[in-house]
Amino acid sequence: MNRFDVVVVGSGIVGLGAAYAAVRRGLRVAVVDRTDAPVGASIRNFGHLCIGAQTGEARRYADISRGLWLQLSRDADFWVRESGSLIAARHDDELAVLEAASRDGEDLRMLDAAELRQRAPLRAEGLLGVAHIATDLQTNPRTAGAAIVRHLAARGVEFRWRTSVTGVRSGVVETTRGVLSAEQIVLAVNHDIDQLLPKVAEDRGIIRCALDMMRVAVTLPRPLSAPLLTGWSMVRYGRFAVLPETAVLRSRLHAERPDLAALDLNQMYTQLPDGTLIVGDSHANAVQPEPFQPEVAFDAFLTEAQALFEMPTPRVLERWQGVYAKGRTEFLIEQVDDGVLALAATTGIGMTTGLGLAEDSLTTAFGWESATEGTA
Ligand SMILES: Cc1cc2nc3c(=O)[nH]c(=O)nc-3n(C[C@H](O)[C@H](O)[C@H](O)COP(=O)(O)OP(=O)(O)OC[C@H]3O[C@@H](n4cnc5c(N)ncnc54)[C@H](O)[C@@H]3O)c2cc1C
Repeated sequence: MNRFDVVVVGSGIVGLGAAYAAVRRGLRVAVVDRTDAPVGASIRNFGHLCIGAQTGEARRYADISRGLWLQLSRDADFWVRESGSLIAARHDDELAVLEAASRDGEDLRMLDAAELRQRAPLRAEGLLGVAHIATDLQTNPRTAGAAIVRHLAARGVEFRWRTSVTGVRSGVVETTRGVLSAEQIVLAVNHDIDQLLPKVAEDRGIIRCALDMMRVAVTLPRPLSAPLLTGWSMVRYGRFAVLPETAVLRSRLHAERPDLAALDLNQMYTQLPDGTLIVGDSHANAVQPEPFQPEVAFDAFLTEAQALFEMPTPRVLERWQGVYAKGRTEFLIEQVDDGVLALAATTGIGMTTGLGLAEDSLTTAFGWESATEGTA
């Protein structure tokens, strides 16, 4: 049977969010993916659900996502912790940004020395302070997607794996295994939107951002209690980027470390439940970024990690490249035909916002009632 109420193309977090929104409304749903499991950006990231550093539309989706992540982690039985995030300041200008940010909301505060010691195994030399953002969550991206797939399948969502979608129009999804029909169709194919809808991608300036990442075995004196960000993160995320203090920080970072600026570094870390550390990341923007991962980026990751953490040289376990869609705005939400909605986070915050983006956009575009569960 190839007839559904809703067909979702893409099994990343945005597509799974769309399927979750639809199945909670009692609809008959299929998810189509060319792979045989989620293997895209949604499993290659830090698992940092960075809610409190967002502003505007992103913050709205992030807040909706927060409730959905917590609900799904209970229902689908996977690891999410209410860890908050930590942000280390190692320079006066970084401290100034954190102090300015702490004045505009109760969710961000500076830790005292005892808390700092307990929550982050950081070298004391050069460390001026650490802030904690209370709203943030952490998940393990390697296991969350698969658990959500199992949960949705148990609720009746049909997964059509190893099936590429070659075209969509109102009511019709053409695939390499035949045609599916659906009242409503959601395209959640991340950067590959330019393959299915080249004109939409071109008009919206959507290209690819490729990131280098690594996972290392570490010996830390204490666990890292939450995702850890640095000054390089402050200049990226909306809540900090808009502050006047951040312009000073950005100029200093770029003047002092042109090598790291050239990598477009976001120096940050998350510790997985097995104790290993995800370390990253660099950014390269192009329609089709090169697949070659410069060793200079990984050298910089290791050098900077050792300068920050109280630890001996880490052992590299894995390196990988992840890709996300990058556009002029933070999101692509476009009704491309009657009942056909294209959705993407077009900057690197899709894990934080994707579930909420799907919930909110489908409700609005398809005129659905609010769901009664999982939207707390
Ligand atoms: C290295 C890295 C680190 C990141 N860190 C974070 C972070 O810590 N926090 C955060 O919030 N965000 C982070 N992000 C961003 C976040 O991971 C992405 O924004 C998000 O995962 C995108 O989800 P998605 O569902 O759109 O895409 P994906 O997970 O890439 O899924 C898209 C799916 O569509 C399928 N597909 C594509 N074309 C077709 C087709 N024609 N037919 C069938 N299937 C198709 C693909 O096979 C794929 O499974 C990071 C991203 C990267 C790459």
